[in-house]
Amino acid sequence: MREIIIQVAYFAAAILFILGLKRMSSPKTATSGVEWAGIGMLIAVLVTFFFPGMHNFLLIIVAIFLGTVAAWIAAKKVAMTAMPEMIAMYNGMGGGAAAAIAAIELSKFIIDPNIHHMSAATFSLAITGALIGSISFSGSILAFFKLRDWLKNIYFPMQQVINLSVLAIALVLGAILLFWHSTLILVLFFIASLAYGVLMTMSIGGADMPVVISLYNAFTGLAVACEGFVLNNISMIIAGTLVGSAGTLLTLLMAKAMNRSLSNVLFTRFGGSSGGTEVTGTTKSMEVEDAAMMLNYVTRVVFVPGYGMAVAQAQQKVWELASLLLEKGVDVKFAIHPVAGRMPGHMNVLLAEAGVPYDYILDMEDINNDFPTTDIVIVLGANDVVNPAARTDKASPIYGMPILNVDYAKQIFVIKRGKGKGYAGIENLLFFNDKCRMVYGDAKQVMTKMIQTLKEQE
Ligand code: NDP
Repeated sequence: MREIIIQVAYFAAAILFILGLKRMSSPKTATSGVEWAGIGMLIAVLVTFFFPGMHNFLLIIVAIFLGTVAAWIAAKKVAMTAMPEMIAMYNGMGGGAAAAIAAIELSKFIIDPNIHHMSAATFSLAITGALIGSISFSGSILAFFKLRDWLKNIYFPMQQVINLSVLAIALVLGAILLFWHSTLILVLFFIASLAYGVLMTMSIGGADMPVVISLYNAFTGLAVACEGFVLNNISMIIAGTLVGSAGTLLTLLMAKAMNRSLSNVLFTRFGGSSGGTEVTGTTKSMEVEDAAMMLNYVTRVVFVPGYGMAVAQAQQKVWELASLLLEKGVDVKFAIHPVAGRMPGHMNVLLAEAGVPYDYILDMEDINNDFPTTDIVIVLGANDVVNPAARTDKASPIYGMPILNVDYAKQIFVIKRGKGKGYAGIENLLFFNDKCRMVYGDAKQVMTKMIQTLKEQE
């Protein structure tokens, strides 16, 4: 009877995960989606205490308490701009937890296979989960360091050959473990898997990080699903599969957004090694008030938000300005590049938080043809995603990445604080375009000043 209740509770938790995920697909219901999934997780954790053979309750409770307190404080304190790093870190924790489960189950089996029996299929799943969980763990930690800007891309001779050799060693050690149950081989297998995660992430940079982050997301889910089979835990299998499939779809979308194949991102030295061809020419700046005045004579304006909008927390102000323009009868739209910001959907989340209705927010492919008929494009803290070098400069680390075609608009205002480069660390050709005016300042302050100027003229 207890077994049935446990399985029913796990099943209910899994249903809550699925419904929660479904609700997360729209910003309107996303918050409740997170709550539903959270309740599912709470049920899954509580019911695990009643699992037959559970012991060490004190240790488990202390671990849960410490984890909860640390996560609660971190989540409360985290700045919106540090969110991507935090997500990368939590992602890695999930992969690490799956790998740790595998390590324990495999060691138990290796030490005493008669008591802790495992079929060959279960053993293979444990190894697979251990491999991808370890890669996700060490790779996500490195991604965290890179997103924090604590680490640059690291290149060394024969990098891809060495990387692939380490992966091959991990795979061979995993295969050997199937036939030769040795603790030493198990330890070496984990070392090789963790090392591959570090090596793989080391050289990926520039604009390719979004693909890697979503790939690790998928890896973590798949690792959890594999270990769910090992522990015979339906809730882990379903939750892991959900994360794994959602992460895989996201990875493919991100790779498509970068116009790269996944293998190209992972195995080609790309994105950050070169600064591209040197740009000559001058940029032209404009005072905020003058830029605001020009907004009185337009019929169509497109805002292009980027990472700088997140840094400045300017989303409320930009919507305030957009609303003013809408009141004046201007056609206003927001153009979103899939990799703008520092995490998938970053800009959509911020604009939704500011209350921008969805009809005003357009994806790159839906708005790119409209730029030639746009009077003014306001580039708000975006840089790489509007850099025409992606089209023309073969030496550029972002060459081939589809961009928002803002340079086709009649006039462009770029709002940024100074000469800071984007994530890819390269000069932006757009800033040297004759139609472009640099409006220097913090995005929020510039928006505030523009609103003020427009209101004063009413
Ligand atoms: P970028 O990182 O290219 O550029 C951001 C710009 O914002 C900088 O040039 C900076 O210039 C400006 N800025 C910073 N702070 C402020 C501020 N307070 N006010 C005004 N401007 C500010 O941003 P994009 O969104 O265009 O591109 C995203 C990049 O990040 C891409 O290369 C993408 O591949 C990468 N990436 C994306 C991830 C994702 O999942 N979306 C994950 C990891 C990386 P200045 O200092 O002069 O103000």
